[in-house]
Amino acid sequence: MNFAHNDTLPYPFVDEIFPDEDGVGYALRMADANALSFHQLATHLASPGHCYLPYTSAPALAFMFGGTPELIARALVRRHFDDGITVADFAEHRFLRPKHLRQLRPQLCPFCLLEHGHARASWSITLMCCCTEHEVCLIDQCACGRSISWRRRSLLVCECGRMFLGSTNSTHPATKGALAICRQIEYLLGKAHFRLQSQLDSDLAVFDDMSVDTFLRLVWALGPSRCERGGCTQHILHAIPTPFEAMLTADQAHNRIRDLLSGRDVASLQLWLPQLISIEEEAVTLPDRRLMSSILARIRPRLPVARRINRNGPIQSSLFEG
Ligand SMILES: [Zn+2]
Ligand SMILES: [Zn+2]
Repeated sequence: MNFAHNDTLPYPFVDEIFPDEDGVGYALRMADANALSFHQLATHLASPGHCYLPYTSAPALAFMFGGTPELIARALVRRHFDDGITVADFAEHRFLRPKHLRQLRPQLCPFCLLEHGHARASWSITLMCCCTEHEVCLIDQCACGRSISWRRRSLLVCECGRMFLGSTNSTHPATKGALAICRQIEYLLGKAHFRLQSQLDSDLAVFDDMSVDTFLRLVWALGPSRCERGGCTQHILHAIPTPFEAMLTADQAHNRIRDLLSGRDVASLQLWLPQLISIEEEAVTLPDRRLMSSILARIRPRLPVARRINRNGPIQSSLFEG
């Protein structure tokens, strides 16, 4: 099927975007329902080679497939310059680090795709490496060896014709720590749109007022091992990691956050001070600055700083005395 006109037209099968659905996932789902390929859609809305749909395609997608333009736009990544750096807006949050989002390398839970029939927006966050519902590590590769792309046969089917559920023999169970991190990310993404936090994850509740971007940066900072910090696997810190690599990072970060909160082995965390200081310096919101200050005060060996900061902030008190 070709587009009948240069303009987009309403298609026979229309639907609203789900509150937790990814914008490109919505486009692929609706293209599928209307017997269009992603290639046709991308050619029309961006360029023939595009593997992602730009933010500016939201009004056309809304017109074609019946969704609300504002809801589709918020589920598409919008990258732009702000104060000299490239930032990304997605799901009503701002991300200062491009690697925090994986637009071109989608990851997914094959069980969720089959059961719910749509791709979750949260999967576009690199560290959202586990499905909190099925408690498995997400996949970004089909059993055929291809990286999963938006440019595929359908939402559920790889270019090779296999359903992604057929790749489950390569699905790893999620680790406890990574699951807790992923549940916290879901919580921070939006209380209105995602499942509420469970009691089991309450050890991370001190981060409930933190921005999702600062929380992700904290996890990235604390996740890598000493060896990786030292430079022997620096590529992992800069490239888009596989969901499994991200899961190991999240799990390790969770261990270190628990040490931090409980006061165990805090001195060993001094190795991570430079990264943590840069996160504090870039923090924009008051809760982010307070939490980062209290973390630094906890790790730095100078007691007077900790005392001074603790007197001024109720959040520090809850972090350290709770
Ligand atoms: Zn799932
Ligand atoms: Zn395949």
